[in-house]
Amino acid sequence: MKELTPFYQAINDPAALGRRITHKKIIGTLCSYAPEELIYAAGYHPMRLFSSKADTQLAQNHLQTYCCSVVRGVLEDSLAGRLDFLHGTVFVHTCDSMQRLSDIWRLKGQYPFFADVILPAKMHTPSAKKYMAAVLERCKTDLETDTGRPVTSQSLADAIRMYNRIRKNLSRIYALKSRYPAVLQNKDLLALVKGSMIMDRQEAADHLDNVILRLAAAVPDVKDSPIAPDKRLILSGSVCDMPGLYDLFQDTGAAVVGDDLCTGRRWFDGLIPEDMEPMAAITQRYAQRLVCPAKHRGLHERADSLVDQAKNLGADGVVFALLKFCDPHAFDYPYLKARLDDAGIKSLVLELDDGQDSQGQLATRIETFIHMI
Ligand code: SF4
Ligand code: SF4
Repeated sequence: MKELTPFYQAINDPAALGRRITHKKIIGTLCSYAPEELIYAAGYHPMRLFSSKADTQLAQNHLQTYCCSVVRGVLEDSLAGRLDFLHGTVFVHTCDSMQRLSDIWRLKGQYPFFADVILPAKMHTPSAKKYMAAVLERCKTDLETDTGRPVTSQSLADAIRMYNRIRKNLSRIYALKSRYPAVLQNKDLLALVKGSMIMDRQEAADHLDNVILRLAAAVPDVKDSPIAPDKRLILSGSVCDMPGLYDLFQDTGAAVVGDDLCTGRRWFDGLIPEDMEPMAAITQRYAQRLVCPAKHRGLHERADSLVDQAKNLGADGVVFALLKFCDPHAFDYPYLKARLDDAGIKSLVLELDDGQDSQGQLATRIETFIHMI
């Protein structure tokens, strides 16, 4: 489908894309809690950083081997000069690995701009919201100091509208994929979300419009397709930057119909109210969006949301795609699995490395699971 081409072009070589963006300075982010709307409103291009998956020779001098492969991979790319298009980076303090990476990044001082955003761990209490608002205000000030210009309410409102448009579009595409699984390949979901995280946002929003039009036109052809995948899966984990894994599900006749991933729904979940004061509205979305295990909004929030999603989408199973050494997700897994068991929803856990592109044993385990559900 030619409408997907810009997304695949972007994700196939993000560094080349970064070097082509010359009209704006680029600020890298590493977490879906990064305040991209603020970065965008300040006139920068926010670009989510993913590991290029090169061997980590340099990073191992700075990080323990028990850091996750995303953190090790991105540090390697930085130390090797592959991120030379960056003007700076905004780090969000979440897990231990990310906090260590932020310290090393700051000390190495390779880029002109650096900001830490130390959000609260609890996201929903009144005091957390107050604190969060102050932290975001400080991030805004850091950006303003760097540009030498104020971030106006108008530019914030424009950024919010842009991000809401992208989020709405991705939600609509996910809804279409869930309703008509044959309308897209599984790995196209990853390409669309990841591409939207790194492309020029205006272009991403326009291209997503085109994808939706094309998918809507394709629905009559795929609605009763005999080759439609007949098993429905939800993926859960942190970052799942492995198109090969999505292909394995496709090859075994399973459709990914939803997810709880930072390379998926967690990035685009929740719209920012457009009728509120912009900074308060951004804070409100943070407090209400799908929570990750490095943050907290009640003891049962993540399990409730995963079970609800699985039921609402009629999922046959949930696959936990966990990165090795990702403690927050490993910690949450037993209780999530127990809740899925209680709800009669089968699950499989895969422990993966970001660089691994899923073959052999993995294929056998997935096939067995798909036949079982
Ligand atoms: S899992 Fe949480 S901490 Fe890790 S990248 Fe996603 S939002 Fe950030
Ligand atoms: S949450 Fe997990 S995957 Fe994300 S940076 Fe932390 S350890 Fe790595």
